[in-house]
Amino acid sequence: MPADTGAPVLLWFRRDLRLSDNPALTAAVSTGRPVVPVFIRDDEDAGDRAPGGASRWWLHGSLKALAEDLSGRGSRLILRSGNAADAIDDLLKETGAEVVFWNRRYEPWATRRDEAIKTSLKERGIEAKSFNAALLCEPWEIETKDGGPYKVFTPFWKALRGLGDPERPEAAPDGIPAPDAFPKTENLDDWKLLPEKPDWAGGLREAWTPGEKGARERLATFVDEAVMAYADKRNLPAKAGTSRLSPHLHFGEVGPRQIWHAAIAAGMSATGQPTPKGVETFLSEIAWREFSWHLLFHFPTLPEEPLRPEFSDFEWKDDDGGLKAWQQGMTGYPIVDAGMRELWATGWMHNRVRMIVASFLVKDLLVHWREGEVWFWDTLVDADLANNTASWQWVAGSGADAAPYFRVFNPVLQGEKFDPDGEYVRRWVPELKDLPANAVHAPWTAKPMELKEAGIELGRDYPHPIVDHATARKRALERYRRMKDGN
Ligand code: FAD
Repeated sequence: MPADTGAPVLLWFRRDLRLSDNPALTAAVSTGRPVVPVFIRDDEDAGDRAPGGASRWWLHGSLKALAEDLSGRGSRLILRSGNAADAIDDLLKETGAEVVFWNRRYEPWATRRDEAIKTSLKERGIEAKSFNAALLCEPWEIETKDGGPYKVFTPFWKALRGLGDPERPEAAPDGIPAPDAFPKTENLDDWKLLPEKPDWAGGLREAWTPGEKGARERLATFVDEAVMAYADKRNLPAKAGTSRLSPHLHFGEVGPRQIWHAAIAAGMSATGQPTPKGVETFLSEIAWREFSWHLLFHFPTLPEEPLRPEFSDFEWKDDDGGLKAWQQGMTGYPIVDAGMRELWATGWMHNRVRMIVASFLVKDLLVHWREGEVWFWDTLVDADLANNTASWQWVAGSGADAAPYFRVFNPVLQGEKFDPDGEYVRRWVPELKDLPANAVHAPWTAKPMELKEAGIELGRDYPHPIVDHATARKRALERYRRMKDGN
């Protein structure tokens, strides 16, 4: 640390939009110097991985909340846009700061950029220090017995679990020392992150409260009401059985250490045991997120290329009509359509249904998983490079620890198993709401009388299935066999 000249510390916020459990902020405050918090809209650096539409909506709310939280502690959020290296250089000149702190990101583009920034700052005698706010275990902190990265989840989880509980999260500082004058800031509204014409965000506004407070409340509700039953209810999309913390986690409004400790405290107070079944299962899902980041860090081509190289030869199909029907929730398979409509309306979809809709796109329609990934990137509020690409590759069969290709989800059976009364389908595909439970997942099997009573004419009020699942399954398996046999 350079001698204290009274020059401020630049605190660069990124995907850590919170004040508690924020090691870079804690370190900045503990220098005793004034702190200049800055967020740089770095779409230019991210290229085609700049936030999609739903994420931009979220980011607006999250930055607004962070700015309010900072001002409540006597500080101010400075906004800049453009290439991050230039924005930081400008701020160093304007403020005279000699120290820059941030919490690490792990996307391949961000890691490359941050390393270059760190090197360049150090060469100029500026102290640059980064911290871990986002993960329980950074990708280089655990390795297999042979010294390489993990490619299979179960041993990864065993190794992570074996490390014991993560450090306890730090509370937010009471006050954040301000400089005599803050540098100028851009105006959040001028970034136009919110949709205007058309304003498609009504459902998002209803479903979510971006920001640290929203994250804290959601975590509290989940640990109070749902974590104990998580193992039993997490696969039922009609129930509030999962935490819905994913967008909060993606933007760093809450961190995994905070979630971990809140979950084990809930287990302890309910049973006297830190990790009863529901809590343990939940922690293992948090570990899937860690595993995705581990994979992306060690296999940085994950977003573009199959992890199993043989999948480079898979014969995908161009099917614009099929892709469009899928995006619009008009495939004629109710559970698929319900999921895609939930996504469009709220920016989120239940994990079980994500698996079903993804399988339908890549196996029933044979559309490349990257098409689905790109759609999710634009429409999910939790769109996350690691989780999204690792999950799509998992479903497509090309991922490291993927589901075996021949296990093709049957959308009717999946619907009947995980949405037995059709509650989820009726919520998101209201035209089917009056069908009896035995037909709600396969309306084409309903008796003419049942369709009539439900006010449905297939092909007019709801589509006929765009493919026959049994035929599509055979076709997918045939293509898989051809890929494996090399002909
Ligand atoms: P909970 O069940 O409450 O789990 C808590 C947290 O654990 C989640 O918030 C998430 O951070 C993590 N988690 C849970 N399941 C998984 C999983 N299977 N893989 C990785 N992390 C997991 N998740 C994203 O955060 N962003 C994405 O872009 C994303 N894309 C996906 C695409 C596909 C095709 C599939 C099948 C899954 C995807 N997931 C993604 C994973 C998972 O569906 C979501 O994390 C989960 O549905 C979020 O809901 P929740 O917060 O209620 O999860």
